[in-house]
Order: sequence, then C-alpha cells, then structure tokens
Amino acid sequence: MSAAPTTVRSVYVHAPFCARRCFYCDFAVQVRRAGGATEWLAAIGAELDLVASEGLFELAPTLDTLYVGGGTPSLLGVEAMQGLAERIGPGRLSAQDLEWTAEANPESLTPEVARSWASAGVNRVSLGAQSFHDPTLRWMGRLHGPEGPAAAVGAARTAGIEDISVDLIFGVPEHLGRPWMDDLQRVVGMDVPHVSLYGLTVEPATPLGRAVRDGRERPVDEERYREEFLLAAQVLSGAGYEHYEVSNFARPGHASKHNGAYWTGSPYLGLGNGAHSYAHPVRRWNVRDWGDYRDAVTGGSTPEEAREYLEDDSIRLESIWLGLRTRSGVAEEPLAGTARRAVHRWEREGLAVREGGRVRLTPEGWLVMDRLSLELDAAQSA
Ligand code: SF4
Repeated sequence: MSAAPTTVRSVYVHAPFCARRCFYCDFAVQVRRAGGATEWLAAIGAELDLVASEGLFELAPTLDTLYVGGGTPSLLGVEAMQGLAERIGPGRLSAQDLEWTAEANPESLTPEVARSWASAGVNRVSLGAQSFHDPTLRWMGRLHGPEGPAAAVGAARTAGIEDISVDLIFGVPEHLGRPWMDDLQRVVGMDVPHVSLYGLTVEPATPLGRAVRDGRERPVDEERYREEFLLAAQVLSGAGYEHYEVSNFARPGHASKHNGAYWTGSPYLGLGNGAHSYAHPVRRWNVRDWGDYRDAVTGGSTPEEAREYLEDDSIRLESIWLGLRTRSGVAEEPLAGTARRAVHRWEREGLAVREGGRVRLTPEGWLVMDRLSLELDAAQSA
C-alpha cells in the first residue's frame, strides 16, 4: 500500500451469523440461532481501531455508502445497527445522500428490527427472498415460507424504509418443479425498486456440492439456466426495471451505489471475517473463520489473511470485465484492429450493442461475459 493512507468513502461490514446454513451456501458464516451483536460490535470496533492505527486506509469524514452484508445482519437484533453507527462515528454517516444498506432474511426482519434499523439510519434493505415456492425454499434450507418476503417488505415500509431490493435465485434443479414465471410475477407484484438475480452455483465445499459429487443431485442444467436468466431479463425489463448490471435490475434512481463503487474501481474498506478491501493496486482480505477473526482483532492483531498487488495485465482484464458487466459497458473508441472486429461480430451475434460511443452486452452477451472479457483482453493486447 502507498505511504499515505487511502481515503475510503465506501465501507462493507460482514455480519457472520446465520440461523442455519443454506444447502448451497459457501459464504463465511457461523451458525447461531440468535444474538451475537455484542461480540460482533466489539470485534468490528477493534478492527476499526486497528485500521486507524495501521495507516493504510482512512475513513472519509462522510461516507457515501455503508453496506452490512452477511451472513444474516437481521439476526443480530435491534441494537446492532445503532451500535455500528456509534463505532463508525455518527458524523461519518451524516451525508444527506448516504446509502446505508443492510441485508436481511425474511424471518428475522421483524417490525422491531426494521424500526431499529430505520432509527439508526439504515435506508436500504436487501432481502434474501430467493423463491416464493415452498418446496424450493425447503430444498434450499431457507427458514421462511412463501409469504415471508411480503411480510418483511411490509415491516421495512412501515418503518419508513422504501428502498428495498429483493434477491431471487434461478437455475435450481428441475425436479423441484419451481415455477420461475410465478416467482418473477410475485416479485414484480411487490413493487420494490430493485431486484437482484443470482444463478445457483455448485460450490464443492457445500452440502449441495457433496450431493452432486455423490450423485444425489444433478449439476445445474446450462440450458435451463440460460432460459431462466433470459426470461427474468424480459419480464423485469417489461415491468419498468433497467437491467443495469448482469445480476441487477432497478427502477430509475435506485441502482446500488455501493456496488457501483466496486464496479468502477473506487477504493473500499471491508471489515469483518472474510471481508475484502481495495486500494488501487492492492486487494487484501481478512481470515474467513469468525473465531480466528474475532481472536485476532480483539487481541490487537491484524485479521488480514493475504493481499495481492494487481499487475498491469490483470488490471486491464479486470477493467474490461467490470465494464462489460454493467450497462455502461466499455468505450468503443480505443478499440482497434482485432478488438474492433470482435465487437462487430458480437453485435452481429446479438451479444452486444454499440451506442453512444460505448459497447455494452445484451442479456445473451452477459451469459458468456467471462469468455467475451477474455476475448477482448486478448485482442487488445495482441
Ligand atoms: S442466509 Fe445467506 S449467508 Fe446465511 S447460510 Fe443462507 S445463503 Fe448463506
């Protein structure tokens, strides 16, 4: 890292606890029925002190975005967000246009929790609905039923939080009989300003990964994955959402500012187990295990597990990949020779469009975004 601390305006805080581990989950989580806020706040506060003394990052006097993800932040109960605000410093959370998001699961975003979040300053909720189909929810290991998301959205709205995002997972096994169109219509009917879509992935170290390895489940069917993604893009765009990033849809003015910081290469600080931080050209990340993390920070030691210095070639590939994943795409003007021919071919194949001096991918293109990023990178460096 450079000698002068990097000023960050976007902070991610990881809340590690979940009441149960979902069948497919590979995140840094710790299973715990409830509570944990006191322990969590003590650890995050200790890490903030370490960050201040390290001289690598400094928090801006006012933050643009704060994102509390997990895990299940709503499991932490009614004191957690106010406690977090006190540790970060209320002045840093005083900007008029601060975006403070907290992730929630339907069963723990109670009216009391929603009220406590609103009074602490949380103004955006990202809700893990995943499906409205009971057999699919049970297969996933979710704790809520089909009506849970609507109740949680109602709790958030009653508390005064209108900026709500709902997550759905697509590409689940066919034997579940999940009616994807019904789920899309349910989310449209909730009239929330933001929807995120995640394709199911099979990670080897998860119960799902083991089930696939043992032949008890089949890997995700690529054609089904493709059809469901394209149907979602069509239905949500038709309902007035802009497909502004490969996985994200927003009504005008409701795109996630915090994720925008990741996609544009802005510096950010990550606090908590498994959290990543970035200050060009360095990325660093904390140890994943909650107990190891807590013991390190409360004992005054850095929780950093490793860091990498991005070389020029990986910075170039990453900036292509980050550009192509958003609707703003990449600039067309610097593309020449093979790169320009590649982009014209993508356009003929329906994978990209060129407009306003930019090249952006279509939903078909987003399905093969990794391949196209590598192709453009190789063409530009040829
Ligand atoms: S609620 Fe989210 S973080 Fe927790 S186990 Fe399920 S998928 Fe993982």
